[in-house]
Amino acid sequence: CFISLEGGEGVGKSTQAGRLTDALRARGLDVLLTREPGGSPGAEAIRQLLLEGAGDRWTPGAEALLFAAARADHVTKTIEPALEAGRWVLCDRFLDSSRAYQGVAGEVGDAAIQNLHQIGSDGALPDRTLVLMLSDEDAAARAHARDEGCPDRIGGRDAKFHAAVAQAFRDFARDDPARIRLIDASGDEEAVTERLLAALSDLLS
Ligand code: C5P
Repeated sequence: CFISLEGGEGVGKSTQAGRLTDALRARGLDVLLTREPGGSPGAEAIRQLLLEGAGDRWTPGAEALLFAAARADHVTKTIEPALEAGRWVLCDRFLDSSRAYQGVAGEVGDAAIQNLHQIGSDGALPDRTLVLMLSDEDAAARAHARDEGCPDRIGGRDAKFHAAVAQAFRDFARDDPARIRLIDASGDEEAVTERLLAALSDLLS
């Protein structure tokens, strides 16, 4: 199974990616945890370009192209071989982040992002996409606490941008409820992991 984990800044996504991987492994599954942008040597090189240019070097359109190129490399070199070997793949961010950040909030357009994904990655989609959601206020508070001294961000974005990202994820889930599920990211870590597992129950049985 191919699972993607999504969410805005400060929702606890990386923590939950680790916790969910452990929980799935405890059920005897062979899980590859990977992340975007990155996850293969070529895609990691593009990640550096994206993070170094954070804030002002790239237009949203250029970002969309770089993410699509990184994803193409990641899908071909890492994700597909793992799925073909019968492993589970848990990917920290995938297509829906590009749709939300570059497509909607960056105003490149959802159709353009989906076209790039078709060209680069043959339109490969996860079996399930779990989107961690917090209120905009809670997410901003957590992101602020975490980002002190943390350079690994694409900066230069305001609260309006992050609210647009959150709204985009809500819209995607409404339009494709079979694949995309919103998960309440409030409360303690263990409770959030249980909610993620519950949203995979049909795939686990
Ligand atoms: O997943 P993580 O929060 O570590 O992502 C690193 C940075 O890349 C974040 O600032 C995130 O918002 C940004 N990003 C983006 N567009 C994407 C995926 C990630 O701007 N499609």
